[in-house]
Amino acid sequence: MLAFEHQFATLPEPLWVACQPTPVEAPRLIAFNQPLADALGLGEVPDDASLAEWFSGNALPPGAEPKALGYAGHQFGNFVPQLGDGRALLLGEVVDQNGVRRDIQLKGSGRTPFSRGGDGRSPLGPVLREYLVSEAMAAMGVPTTRALAAVASGERVMRQMVEPGAVLTRVAASHVRVGTFQFVAARQDHTALKALADFVIERHYPEAQQAEQPYLALLEAVLQRQAALVAKWMGVGFIHGVMNTDNMSIAGETIDYGPCAFMEQFDPQKVYSSIDQGKRYAFSNQPLIAQWNLARFAECLLPLLEGEQETRVSQLTDILRGFDGVFAAEQQRIHADKLGLDADNDQASQLMAALEAQMQQGRMDMTATFDALTQLARAPGDTSRQALLALSAIPEALAPWVDEWQAHQVASQDEQRWQAMRQANPLIIPRNHRVEEAIQAANDGDLAPFHRLLAAVTTPYTDTADTRELSKPANEQQQVLRTFC
Ligand code: AMP
Ligand code: MG
Ligand code: MG
Repeated sequence: MLAFEHQFATLPEPLWVACQPTPVEAPRLIAFNQPLADALGLGEVPDDASLAEWFSGNALPPGAEPKALGYAGHQFGNFVPQLGDGRALLLGEVVDQNGVRRDIQLKGSGRTPFSRGGDGRSPLGPVLREYLVSEAMAAMGVPTTRALAAVASGERVMRQMVEPGAVLTRVAASHVRVGTFQFVAARQDHTALKALADFVIERHYPEAQQAEQPYLALLEAVLQRQAALVAKWMGVGFIHGVMNTDNMSIAGETIDYGPCAFMEQFDPQKVYSSIDQGKRYAFSNQPLIAQWNLARFAECLLPLLEGEQETRVSQLTDILRGFDGVFAAEQQRIHADKLGLDADNDQASQLMAALEAQMQQGRMDMTATFDALTQLARAPGDTSRQALLALSAIPEALAPWVDEWQAHQVASQDEQRWQAMRQANPLIIPRNHRVEEAIQAANDGDLAPFHRLLAAVTTPYTDTADTRELSKPANEQQQVLRTFC
C-alpha cells in the first residue's frame, strides 16, 4: 500500500482544488516501474488489472485525495496568470524508503477546473516519451521526476490526428514550480505566498530556515540546484524544449517532458521543438533561460523580504548574479569528468571548447564521440584512436586535438578517473528516432520496441549488443528534425 499523506492540502486555496479523475473506458497496464514502487514502499503489488484501475484513476489507490494544483507561468516569455493542472491530479505524497517525501501524480486523468479548452487527456506517445526519457535521465544521474506507471486508456484522443490515449503516473520531489509562486504573487495574495515559501523551505531546503534571511537563502538554494541541473542536461546533450516558468521545478528536478530531445550532431543552436519558433530554448540558451526564470522567481519573493525596496532588490539581484559562477563551476567539473581529466584541471574548458568546435565542424554525434573517447582512454591504441577519428567528417582536423587531449587526460592510468569518465559519458541516450519508432509501434499495438528501448536506456553504462544497436545515430532517412508535445 502507498501510505498517502497530504501536506500540500495544508496550503490555502487557490493553490489547490479538490477534483476527481474522469474514468477511462478500458484501462490496461503498459508499464510499471517495480524498483520505484519498491522505493516508495508499495509492498506487495496487486495484479496488473488492479494497477491499471489505480493508475488510470478509475479506482484510486486507498488514501489518495486527488487535487489539481494552481500555477501561473511565463510561456515563451509571456505571462499567463492562470495555467494550473489542466490534465493532472496530485494523488498525495508518500515518504519513500530513504525518508524523502515524494508526490504521486496522475497525468492525463481528465478535465479539471484548470483545463480551459483542453480535454484533460494525454495521447499515448507523449506518455511513453516521458516514461522513457525521465527514466533514462534518472539512470544517468540527472535529477528528474520519475515514471511509476503507464496505463492505456482504451480511449482515443484528438490531436493533429486521432491517437490512443494513456495516463502516466509521475513521481516528483514536489510539483511546486516557479509558476506556483507566480500564481499567488500575481494575485498579491501574500498570505498564500508566505505559506508556500515556508512550505517549500521545510520540504526542500530546511537548511534555509537557519539563515539570517530564509527567503534569500531559498533563492540561493534553488539557484544552485537549477544551475547544477542545466549543466547536467548539457553534459548529456539534453534540450528540454519548453523551459517556461511553469515547467521549472523549485526542487531542481527536470519536469514536464514535452518536445524534449537529445542532440545528435553537436550544434549549440540546436532546437527540435515544433513550438519553439524563435529558438528561445535552444541548447546553449538553457543557462540563460534558467537564470531568466530564476529572476521571475526572485520577483515573487520580493514582498516577503524586509527593509527598503531598493535594498531588497539589490539583495535578490546579487544572488541572481551568482548564477554564472555556480554554473561554470558545475560545468567545469562535468567537462573534466567527460574528458577524463582531474577535476581541477584548468585545461578542461579549453579542451572542451576545442572539441565542441571539432564536433560541430566534423558533424560528429555527441554521444558517440564521448563514448569513443571513453573507450580510447580505456584501451589506448590505433584501433580505438581510429574509431574516434572515423566519427568526424574531417578526421585530419581532429587528430591534433586527440594528441593534445592524450597529453592531459589521466583516465588511462587512473581507474577512478576512468570510472568517473564512464559515468559522465553514457553509451546510450534515448535517440529521437528510436523514441519515435517505439511510439509508432505502440500506437499500432506493439509495445516490444518500447520495452526494449526502456531496458537499454535505463542501463546506459552496460555494453551489450542491443545497447550498441539502439545507440547508433540516425541515418539520413531516420533523422527526426522536429519534436511535438
Ligand atoms: P504543458 O505544455 O504540458 O507544460 O502545459 C501547459 C498548460 O496547458 C498547463 O496548464 C497544462 O495543464 C495545460 N494543458 C496541456 N494539455 C492539456 C490538455 N490536454 N487538457 C487540459 N489542459 C492541458
Ligand atoms: Mg507544464
Ligand atoms: Mg507537457
